[in-house]
Amino acid sequence: MPEKNSFNLNLRNLFINTAKNFSDTEIVYRNKRRMTYSKFFQRVNGLAAGLKSIGVKEGDTVAVIDWDTDKYMEAYYAVPMMGAILHTVNIRYPPELIYYSMNHAEDKYVIVRDEFLPILEKNKQMFDFIKGWIVYNDDNGTVSTQMAPNYHYEDIVKNEKFEFPDLDENTTATIFYTSGTTGFPKGVTFTQRNLVMHTLALANGVQFSPINVGRSDNFMILVPMFHVHSWGIPYMGLLNGNKYVLPGRYEVGTILELLKNENIKFSAMVPSILYMVLSAPNLEEYREYLKGWRIIIGGAALPKGLAMKARSLGITAIGAYGLSETAPLLTIAMYNDSISRADDETKFNFSITTGIPVPMVNLKVVDQNMVDVPADAKTVGEIVVRSPWLTKGYFKDPQKTEELWKGGWLHTGDLAVIHPNGYISIVDREKDAVKSGGEFIPSLVLENALSEMKGVGEVAVIGKPHEKWGERPVAFIVKNEPIKESDVYEHLNKYVDVGRIQKWWVPDEIYFIDSIPKTSTGKSDKKELRKMLK
Ligand code: AMP
Repeated sequence: MPEKNSFNLNLRNLFINTAKNFSDTEIVYRNKRRMTYSKFFQRVNGLAAGLKSIGVKEGDTVAVIDWDTDKYMEAYYAVPMMGAILHTVNIRYPPELIYYSMNHAEDKYVIVRDEFLPILEKNKQMFDFIKGWIVYNDDNGTVSTQMAPNYHYEDIVKNEKFEFPDLDENTTATIFYTSGTTGFPKGVTFTQRNLVMHTLALANGVQFSPINVGRSDNFMILVPMFHVHSWGIPYMGLLNGNKYVLPGRYEVGTILELLKNENIKFSAMVPSILYMVLSAPNLEEYREYLKGWRIIIGGAALPKGLAMKARSLGITAIGAYGLSETAPLLTIAMYNDSISRADDETKFNFSITTGIPVPMVNLKVVDQNMVDVPADAKTVGEIVVRSPWLTKGYFKDPQKTEELWKGGWLHTGDLAVIHPNGYISIVDREKDAVKSGGEFIPSLVLENALSEMKGVGEVAVIGKPHEKWGERPVAFIVKNEPIKESDVYEHLNKYVDVGRIQKWWVPDEIYFIDSIPKTSTGKSDKKELRKMLK
């Protein structure tokens, strides 16, 4: 008997009414398949029953290796709701890191799309710790594989009548690995309670943000499902009963077609994906469908130039911030009182900042002694946070966990300033910060200024070792119109004249390159740029 008035914050309880309330709302996978929520939850139930029938038990870790598909969505629900742990494998890792993360996470079962099987089969003897492979292809046809024992996904889902347990809210629900730009990636875990609290805060934040996402807005999320639970939106979207469109592998042509055919109104993505979509050679053909598209940009700062380009097409893009360790949501560029009353240009300028903390995020910007920096838009400090959905720590890594949670606050490693009205602007990552003559040069402020120049497509600023100053900034630019180095300096000097940047911040060198190297989650890979510079 449950205790009177006790109620676990778990996914089963969060979605207890969803299938009934939104029984006819659709989940769509490309132009391949569509099903109603009612069918979806029936299949989720079938998947859990089928997984149990092949031996999956509470506490077992079940990995998924796929693009963003309907089956991935089913696993997002069935695996944690049955009490197992969902491992969302980063498919952009090189094979050795895929193996490393699966081995480190102690995966027991794997749900995998056929096109990823060859890289696993090449080293099949290394995966002897896996007890079962659940395989499928895009058309639900027969798949043959050397990985054994194997089961066909559609046979597994045919099972039904699984009674989801009322799990203790502190049960581990998910695990995934950080992008691993320095050393081996680290595993982060989240509990049922973390996910429930995150989903509710995200729903609230998105609804009350300047993009006002409501029930009738169709979703297409362009954050890979392996990247921090696709920012939690696969849970938030269904909770609110939104039509949910899964794009599979990201291809600009497919994205634009889905935008048009499925009447997409809400998306989330890192800036490089928006840049990719807006650089499509046939964008004009889709112009009328871009109008009214509302987007959350996170994972990296939203460059003003990109937000302006989006605005000129009738798209609203706003900033949000978080990290793997924080599930991820911490802030959204919502309007607080001071901004609600401001003119349109001021609103625009604040809607592309890091934003303000969502409910239940206790966020501070502090100096090295954990003392709050003044809210003067100038003094730089580190963002530290507390909230009910942060990871407890790194899986099997007590030392790094200790560093992460030093002093009882989660240390983000992000450097920021606070504006007098409470808005936060990240100016750099601790690891990427450019230190010149002992002073700090905010690379994100420089990148923002450069992004506003006509002819600049993408941009990244890094520090180059310098004999006298320690480091000096250099900029890498991808042009989208013919521009010269002297034009870039002329542009920056105008910003110096009006005091938006300081004279000594102006980069010593400008490099025009074809593309900015990207990390596995689509962000500028500054480590790789530093290597290129050498
Ligand atoms: P990841 O854990 O791979 O998602 O990376 C998290 C990191 O991305 C953060 O620590 C920040 O450095 C960066 N990041 C995320 N959102 C933003 C944002 N809105 N502005 C600037 N940097 C961001």
